[in-house]
Amino acid sequence: MSGTIPLSLPDITETEIQAVVEVLRSGRLSIGPRQARFEEMIAERCRRRHAIAVSSGTAGLHAVLAAMGIGPGDEVITTPFSFVASANCILYVGAKPVFVDIDPKSLNLDPDKLEAAITPKTKAIIAVEVFGNPTHMDRIAQIAGAHEIPLVEDCCEALGGSCRGHPAGSFGRAGVFAFFPNKQITTGEGGMIVTDDDRLAGLCRSLRNQGRAVEGVGDQAGASCGNRFGSWLMHERLGYNYRLNEMSCALGIVQMERLDSMLAARRRVAMGYIRRMMDWQELILPTVPTGEEEHTSWFVFVVRLTHEYDTTARDRIIGGLRRHEIGAGNYFPCIHLQPYYREKFGYKPGDFPVAESVSQRTIALPFHNHLDETQIELVCHTLKVMLQRETLLKRG
Ligand SMILES: *Cc1c(COP(=O)(O)O)cnc(C)c1O
Repeated sequence: MSGTIPLSLPDITETEIQAVVEVLRSGRLSIGPRQARFEEMIAERCRRRHAIAVSSGTAGLHAVLAAMGIGPGDEVITTPFSFVASANCILYVGAKPVFVDIDPKSLNLDPDKLEAAITPKTKAIIAVEVFGNPTHMDRIAQIAGAHEIPLVEDCCEALGGSCRGHPAGSFGRAGVFAFFPNKQITTGEGGMIVTDDDRLAGLCRSLRNQGRAVEGVGDQAGASCGNRFGSWLMHERLGYNYRLNEMSCALGIVQMERLDSMLAARRRVAMGYIRRMMDWQELILPTVPTGEEEHTSWFVFVVRLTHEYDTTARDRIIGGLRRHEIGAGNYFPCIHLQPYYREKFGYKPGDFPVAESVSQRTIALPFHNHLDETQIELVCHTLKVMLQRETLLKRG
């Protein structure tokens, strides 16, 4: 339907298409030169020694925790206001997630509440730059450092952002990016682990490749001709198949070459929304870090209804937007209130009041690089009508 404005849309040009076709013609579809190049580009962008391409952001988070040796009996601190993967990875290694409530402005883990949650069992802190906002990342890194607890940066939503001159991905012991089609850059599915730690990088490379000792580029050739005498069938540890194929890496290379122009396009759309909605009394707009200190990498555009509205009003508004063929979403339902977490850990409403209050009133609006002024105008206009309808409903 041509009138539809989707919630998100990947930005794929003829250059990406050509790059993928070239890989298909080359005959080398996995473990090849594109992976190495893509890794180099990400490492350079976030000023890290190592970048390890993986099959998804979730796989990357899992591999990092596994490489750190985190397991049963350990606790890992994270935020309840994120995509479920930032906590699921803790369950994959058998450790216990410990949630810390968020700061209502940045929507990131509240550094003031962090220390109280640290125990002798805390083996890592997973901090998320929610919606691409890097605020507090430096303070969280400081606190983690003071307690000698490794920080894992879930920077899946923050590629290209920075905090006090430090790029997203440069804070923790390791960081993890994701390249699902709604992220700043996409490889279809994909992720990237970044770190300065040589040993951790080596372990992650082994874990993504079935626990093989050395990831020789020549090994794939050996394996594909049936050579079983090389290291291809030697598995030193329990590993996984978390490799990223060459088509995805080729896509990633072109997307990285275009990153700055795509980030600028996203910023233009975000500012287009903010300019139009600045004076709306019904909404809390995303905080834009001011000055030169922090730079949001716009991932999504999420507004929040004020406290005068409840979840049913929010859901009606989302439904109304969708009926007008305008994509809308409720980013994020709290992780601790997801059915699986409630059942397994006994969490209940009220456990993390700030995250819950925020998550009940968020509306994610259409957000992608090609959204033009007319479409932004249409989204704002339709949203305003929905808000006015709520005002009438409240009057009865
Ligand atoms: C996208 C995302 C991930 C990982 O996503 P994948 O779909 O596995 O690539 C992890 N954490 C956060 C916060 C995300 O937004």
